[in-house]
Amino acid sequence: MTTPTEVPLPPSQRARGDESLIIVMRQTATDADVQHVIDRLEDIGAEAHVSRGKHRTVIGAVGDREIIQQLPWEAFPGVERAVPVLKPFKFVSRDFQEHDSVVDVGGVPVGGTHFVAIAGPCAVESREQLFASAEAVAKAGARILRGDAFKPRTSPYSFQGLREKGLELLAEAREEFGLPFVAEVVDPRDVELVAEYADLIRVGTRNMANFTLLSELGRQHKPVLLKRGFTATVEEWLNAAEYIYKEGNHNVILCERGIRTFETATRNTLDISAAAVVRRLSHLPVIVDPSHSGGHRYLVAPLTRVAVVSGANGFMVDVHPAPETALVDGAQAILPTEFAELMVEVRALAGVMGLEL
Ligand code: PEP
Ligand code: MN
Repeated sequence: MTTPTEVPLPPSQRARGDESLIIVMRQTATDADVQHVIDRLEDIGAEAHVSRGKHRTVIGAVGDREIIQQLPWEAFPGVERAVPVLKPFKFVSRDFQEHDSVVDVGGVPVGGTHFVAIAGPCAVESREQLFASAEAVAKAGARILRGDAFKPRTSPYSFQGLREKGLELLAEAREEFGLPFVAEVVDPRDVELVAEYADLIRVGTRNMANFTLLSELGRQHKPVLLKRGFTATVEEWLNAAEYIYKEGNHNVILCERGIRTFETATRNTLDISAAAVVRRLSHLPVIVDPSHSGGHRYLVAPLTRVAVVSGANGFMVDVHPAPETALVDGAQAILPTEFAELMVEVRALAGVMGLEL
């Protein structure tokens, strides 16, 4: 694969600190070779971020570019090449780590050839509603349950979620149906609370650029599902992921959920190239949300089929036992029976793509 960093950004787009060096070690490099590089970086006041891959070790050097680049890194024992990274996102880039990251979500692998189905209600409304949905999606083959306890809504007068009570119900459903769950966090002050319960913490589209929230999530260890901002470019989205990764939480999964375009037939326009673009630029897993992009029930199946063959590592859909009574997003929720039918198709397409479901 050609390295995307070989195309330099125009000087006007470069900022101080935007450039660093990725030092790729040879497969035959010894631990001593790796340590020697780290020691030299530390000697010159640079930070060394080490990624020990299955096949090779890669070291990200961040600091004063002028000083870092003065050293003849390619002459060091065990070093294969030193690549300046012109992109503002570094550790989430493919240059830093060649192989796909696989994120463990409560025992469920997401990434590489593992394709994951995530399903459940948009919001937790009651035990009956949540359990009916969870039981059905578990039976149909979903591996992760979705359901929100905190709902940031367009209108401040709309239902805002059951808060901690909702998280308790989700934890009960996890026990009952054996599904780890994903739930959204909205406020940095709630990160600790949500992390206590959830297996995967979601950042919603409206919060993708909430850097305080992202950094807070980087400082705890539960995996994070980072939705794309509905007006964000792929580069802005990967920068948001970098905020989390940089703080030490490497368990980040991206989620394409549609972007705002001039089209009004759909709630948002699903960017069907997003998964392929992201996977070229980054080693992080990326999933697709057909419910929040299409915004209509009839679009969930077609957009899910697209997700499976688009290079995505999974999908997430809203499933509600009685969508007509839903307090949130009823128009885009599918019935448990429809989800079961959809899973039959997903299995067939995943087979074609060589994915493990
Ligand atoms: C959701 O997944 O329930 C949600 C609110 O999504 P988004 O932030 O993408 O609108
Ligand atoms: Mn929703």
